[in-house]
Amino acid sequence: MAKKVLKFGGTSLGSIERIVHAAKIVKKEYNNGHKIIVVVSAMSGTTNNLIAHSELISKKFIKRELDVLLTSGEQVTSALIAGSLNDLGVKSKSWMNWQIPILTEGEHTNSRIINMNVKFINEYLESGGVAVIPGFQGISKSGDITSIGRGGSDATAVAIAKIFDTDTCEIYTDVDGVYSSDPKKIPVAKKINKISYEEMLELSSLGAKVMQSSAVQTAMMYDIPLKVKSTFTDRDGTEIFNQENIDYSKVVTGVAYSKDDAKITLIGVEDKPGVAADIFEPLSKNEINVDMVIQNISSDGNKTDLTFTIKRQDKNTASSLIKNNKKIKYETMQMNDKVSKISIVGAGMVATPGVTYKMFRSLAEEKINILAISTSEIKVSVIIDESSTIQAVKKLHKTFNLD
Ligand code: ADP
Ligand code: ASP
Ligand code: MG
Repeated sequence: MAKKVLKFGGTSLGSIERIVHAAKIVKKEYNNGHKIIVVVSAMSGTTNNLIAHSELISKKFIKRELDVLLTSGEQVTSALIAGSLNDLGVKSKSWMNWQIPILTEGEHTNSRIINMNVKFINEYLESGGVAVIPGFQGISKSGDITSIGRGGSDATAVAIAKIFDTDTCEIYTDVDGVYSSDPKKIPVAKKINKISYEEMLELSSLGAKVMQSSAVQTAMMYDIPLKVKSTFTDRDGTEIFNQENIDYSKVVTGVAYSKDDAKITLIGVEDKPGVAADIFEPLSKNEINVDMVIQNISSDGNKTDLTFTIKRQDKNTASSLIKNNKKIKYETMQMNDKVSKISIVGAGMVATPGVTYKMFRSLAEEKINILAISTSEIKVSVIIDESSTIQAVKKLHKTFNLD
């Protein structure tokens, strides 16, 4: 008999029929003698709709109330699945974040779970009940409702696995595992049976939203193995665990992409010590993260061009910070937000020379221009024109034998 977390995502709970189907999966596990904690997302589309409602009132809707609003979607699915389980003859009860409580710290809409009370839920599991907990929700020390970032139900599931010391943490979603690329956009993508935390963390931070990156980070930190599988098929899913146990037959494990970057180029910047610091200091003080940076060699020794990338949502703030920065001089600023970031990820890369070159060559063969580059031990990312995204992902897929 095992203690398990079963987390269901939004599409898996997207209709009443699907909620009943998810409840039947839970019932099957329960009938096999396991103790079950169910973690739920809101029904697919709900959180986006609630955000849209808030934006009709104000684009700067107050964040405390946004958290009260957004976390309501998970209350609905918690009650529906607990109700459905009871209807199927399984004793079940839901708890809201504040009833448990799930304690968080950090700012509204982007808090982190720091602890939760296990007593009542453990007693309930002992008494033969299935506990249902809403993902994404928390409560701050001051008693305010919080949320833990988009896709945060994954992080709730992992935190519960850790704090309740469960044997497994299973993420049920609408695809049957982690693929070499988004299977909905790249039909030739292949399912990955086993993947390391490090690779999964890179893939999810670089755009593979199948697992939320901070959930993977927590799982890695506490060595909590994860299973990603489908709510709709019985196929084996993907295991995410410590990389020591994985055989690296492929150099590249996956290709991720995201369209949430913007590129800024400052042309004719003075080429003297301290300029880069003067440009980036106000950005960092305003919590704008600079990702890639390229500085051209100045031909005359006086002026240079500086290119860097930031999150697209920060582009207006960044451009006004630069325009109002009295410490720097430049001729013109160019902003391009029609770019995408394409990344190849693989732990086998460290030991294989020539991967970066192979990536650049294959993009060149497709006549795709690289606008910026960044690398780490297990990934290479490039910024390209947004219109070439799928073409680039497909080509890299082929180049690295992932089809
Ligand atoms: P859930 O609602 O279950 O949390 P998400 O929509 O957050 O599901 O994540 C699942 C989606 O992630 C899939 O439908 C798929 O389109 C997308 N995705 C992106 N990259 C990948 C990948 N490499 N492998 C699998 N799915 C991916
Ligand atoms: N409902 C939240 C969201 O859409 C959390 C989640 O689905 O994991 O971001
Ligand atoms: Mg998700």
